[in-house]
Amino acid sequence: MSARECRVGEGWDVHRLAAGRRLVLGGVEIPFDRGELGHSDGDVLLHALVDALLGAAALGDIGAHFPPSDARWKDADSLELLARALGLVTAEGWSIVNVDSTVILERPRLRPHVEAIRARMASALGIEVGRVSVKAKTAEGLGPVGSGEAVEARALVLIDRVR
Ligand code: MG
Repeated sequence: MSARECRVGEGWDVHRLAAGRRLVLGGVEIPFDRGELGHSDGDVLLHALVDALLGAAALGDIGAHFPPSDARWKDADSLELLARALGLVTAEGWSIVNVDSTVILERPRLRPHVEAIRARMASALGIEVGRVSVKAKTAEGLGPVGSGEAVEARALVLIDRVR
């Protein structure tokens, strides 16, 4: 008898916003005068997603697999990190059921970019766009995200396999 097994994973990340950096969210570059400071491209949404994926399969975290001390990941495209994490998870027989995520950013308005971000993430994960949710919020002016110093993201992933 085969049985379906499900696991859930969560991920969270925050990056400072700085002048002279690109603002990349979910693999999509958003026009803005500041962007994420980070060793890689600083894509806070994909970093949260990578941690959620690895977490669902109990395979550690983004820092263990892609340490900032490793020059390979300097200015790395986070889509590459996501592809590697996905490879680790699928190698254990897992499929992605769905992704839900939230980006918390004071400016710029993210809503006009949400469909492009969903499409990019779905294509990177090899699943239909209907399985990928991206929600946009502000921090109502509160804290470092509210003052525009930082951007934050959260992600949840459900994975399943039959065995
Ligand atoms: Mg990060």
